[in-house]
Amino acid sequence: MAEAQAIALCSWKDCKHAATHHFRWEWGDEGNVCESCIALMNQAADQLARKFITTPLNPAAESPLTRSERTQLIAARLSAEAEADEIKLRSHQLYTQNVDLSSQVQTLKMREREHAGQMDAKESENERLAEALEKRERELAEATNEVQRLTTLLEFKPAEETSRVGAQRGLEGQKRGKGPTSPPAAPPAAPPAPEG
Ligand SMILES: [Zn+2]
Repeated sequence: MAEAQAIALCSWKDCKHAATHHFRWEWGDEGNVCESCIALMNQAADQLARKFITTPLNPAAESPLTRSERTQLIAARLSAEAEADEIKLRSHQLYTQNVDLSSQVQTLKMREREHAGQMDAKESENERLAEALEKRERELAEATNEVQRLTTLLEFKPAEETSRVGAQRGLEGQKRGKGPTSPPAAPPAAPPAPEG
């Protein structure tokens, strides 16, 4: 019943609506009045050329939230919570992805080092083979030179043996350390140079 008594009723004429303000005329008359009756009281005050003051009955009562305001706030809070959960989830997913990517990077780095090591081994193997090849090429060049020399010697000897004029003498001449049999014919004498 205390709550019911706390609800003041409008005392303006026979209004009886819930009062929102306390009023006091300048001559001391006072009471409670509802929002809509304040306008009527103002008209009366103008006609009477008198004044009254009003004070809100329960200032604290104005601040409590209405049902729809509460509903809106709750909805907004739920929405914000849902959003926060979503962000947390997303953040967790990103963290997981990050961990995953980090481990992939580690694996790739490891493979890279492995490959680098293999490449080094292959490079030194290649160098070794290149050196061996170079050595073989030098040997081949030397062998080729030797073959060339022997071939030249062999070609030189048949040229003497197949000489049509006195092959035997030629051989004898070679034994004596002389040149081939017949000396080449003397070149024809040059024509006299014109005088003057
Ligand atoms: Zn009223």
